[in-house]
Amino acid sequence: MSKTNDLEVILVGDELLAGTQRDTHLEYLGRRFGRIGAAIARVHVIGDSVEDIASLITERLGRTSVLVVTGGLGPTADDITREGVARALGLELEFHEPSWKAIKSFFVQRGRGVTENNRRQACFPKGADVLRNARGTAPGFAVEGKATLVFVLPGPPEELSSMVEAEVIPRVQTRLGRAPLRVETFRTIGIGESKLTSLIGGDLAAVSAYKVASLPSMTGVNIVLTQLPGVDDAGVLDREADKIERVLRDTIGNKLY
Ligand code: ATP
Repeated sequence: MSKTNDLEVILVGDELLAGTQRDTHLEYLGRRFGRIGAAIARVHVIGDSVEDIASLITERLGRTSVLVVTGGLGPTADDITREGVARALGLELEFHEPSWKAIKSFFVQRGRGVTENNRRQACFPKGADVLRNARGTAPGFAVEGKATLVFVLPGPPEELSSMVEAEVIPRVQTRLGRAPLRVETFRTIGIGESKLTSLIGGDLAAVSAYKVASLPSMTGVNIVLTQLPGVDDAGVLDREADKIERVLRDTIGNKLY
């Protein structure tokens, strides 16, 4: 039997395919899920078509533990992700009164009128778990099909990230049964990446319990150690992190902070 992927992502939007909107979700999702030891195995980018979304989801059900779908949850005619997901799962869309109340009060609080189109945002596949949107109108949802947990999340980045933090990460952790990974960040200033690597490259190469990244930024180079999934020996993790800290102190002194 073929291996089931941890996690796959579907980015929905004609604008992504046309190149008029740059994708930033993958960078965020890859890093965020990586921190809980969940690896994104595949990413699909697809246009605003109910048929295409439904057939892609049908194809991926049962092949991944978790499927995260973003975009196309708005009130307009091209926002058809909910229909595509419902069709793939063979579920009816059901009106959810508490979400409709929350959507109406979101508009009232901002002094804006709510339209009948917004009612679509309060419809979810039968049996779905509605996910609150603290930053916008469209709630997300989570629904199960053929051993795949499907999350459907809004497109705007700040709505996506607040929902991922509050609603998705805890469920994915439970689903995959993984503890959060340990991350150690060593920040340096006033020393270039090549110089730093020439000084401590050998010690970084000897690290076996963490994935090592050297990340240059405007302020300096950060050395980031991320615990490798499957390594849980706390003694080894402590020893290797302590060793890198000691080596950095010995070689670059107060350029480490
Ligand atoms: P809305 O209610 O705003 O319509 P939505 O859930 O329907 O939200 P989309 O219509 O697909 O989401 O996208 C809304 C906005 O979110 C886009 O105009 C874009 O600014 C942003 N967005 C969507 N997908 C991405 C992405 N992959 N990367 C970056 N931004 C994105």
